[in-house]
Amino acid sequence: MSTGFTMFEGRVNFYCAPVPRGRCPGSWPTVTTGGYAMIVSNCEVYARDYAGWQWCLKEGTLGGSVPVFDEIILSTSLMDKVISLDQTSGVLVCQSGCVLETLSNMLEEKGLIMPLDLGAKGSCQIGGNVSTNAGGLRLLRYGSLHGTVLGLEVVLADGTVLNALSTLRKDNTGYDMKQLFIGSEGTLGVVTAVSILTPPLPNSTNVAFVGCAGFTEVREVYTKAKTMLGEILSAVEFMDGEVLDIVLTQLPLHSPLSSSHPFYVLVETSGSHDQHDKEKLDGFLEEVMSKGLIEDGTVAPDISKQRAIWAVREMAAEALVRAGVTYTVREHSLY
Ligand SMILES: Cc1cc2nc3c(=O)[nH]c(=O)nc-3n(C[C@H](O)[C@H](O)[C@H](O)COP(=O)(O)OP(=O)(O)OC[C@H]3O[C@@H](n4cnc5c(N)ncnc54)[C@H](O)[C@@H]3O)c2cc1C
Repeated sequence: MSTGFTMFEGRVNFYCAPVPRGRCPGSWPTVTTGGYAMIVSNCEVYARDYAGWQWCLKEGTLGGSVPVFDEIILSTSLMDKVISLDQTSGVLVCQSGCVLETLSNMLEEKGLIMPLDLGAKGSCQIGGNVSTNAGGLRLLRYGSLHGTVLGLEVVLADGTVLNALSTLRKDNTGYDMKQLFIGSEGTLGVVTAVSILTPPLPNSTNVAFVGCAGFTEVREVYTKAKTMLGEILSAVEFMDGEVLDIVLTQLPLHSPLSSSHPFYVLVETSGSHDQHDKEKLDGFLEEVMSKGLIEDGTVAPDISKQRAIWAVREMAAEALVRAGVTYTVREHSLY
């Protein structure tokens, strides 16, 4: 069966697919970079008996990290230490097994945030994020990991440890080796440590959720948001009615709006002056309403309502998996 529906950031087709299940003779956790170097450099010995390697095994929503034959799993879960945090520059250096949400919580206490956030934050690790070049919900504001990752330590396939763990943002020396490993899904080596730039924690956040009649209106809302909200715009995400229906059917969540629409757009602002930011957001909403670009909308004044709106977006991937579908093709994109 194949049909079409739209999810945030893209038009997608789905097909009925079972949640990927694999099998594996065992996993190999280790606590040091040298431990990985030893295991990986002995790869040839094991290759006689085993088909290949998987570095980890956590999210794997689409099955990319699921062992299907006799692979060995290298687990980075024990490598979960923060190596250093410079609160002036905002540069965090940590081991690759740190869970994204744990890092986020630690940074928030120090007035900083991770430059990426995504629904899988409670279980995914920074090494997995780097290896999949995870985009996430803050990409509009802080850019991709190709810009925010400053350095990596990687164990290559022959056991060589590549130390490219720079903490310098303005580093224009020679080849930028780390870029090869961002998004390479473990094919070039095991990421064992990450140096990443963390921005200041915004002290004023607002979230609006609006309903639109079509994708043309979604694009115009996005354009208006960029021009009218400018420097305080921190996220724009859209989803279509079919995906929202799946989320509401599969999970105990409520629609932020009482009415149904073909498309929905979530707009988030993050800034430093609450009253100024709210006035800007109100002006934007009046403009898109008066131009007929939105049919309905709501603004979340407090953190609990903001979280409830974000949950609808963040849990979309899990709802799709529960529905037994996965996404394959992108046709629509805002950025
Ligand atoms: C609910 C949910 C919401 C999501 N939302 C978003 C989103 O909004 N935007 C987005 O871009 N993505 C999203 N994702 C996908 C997400 O980016 C990835 O699942 C996550 O970044 C993978 O990290 P992980 O630690 O779970 O890696 P795993 O699933 O364990 O591994 C993923 C791949 O990376 C490799 N790998 C893992 N760790 C290392 C390492 N240390 N060194 C080398 N290779 C390694 C593995 O071999 C595998 O190929 C979402 C996923 C879920 C489940």
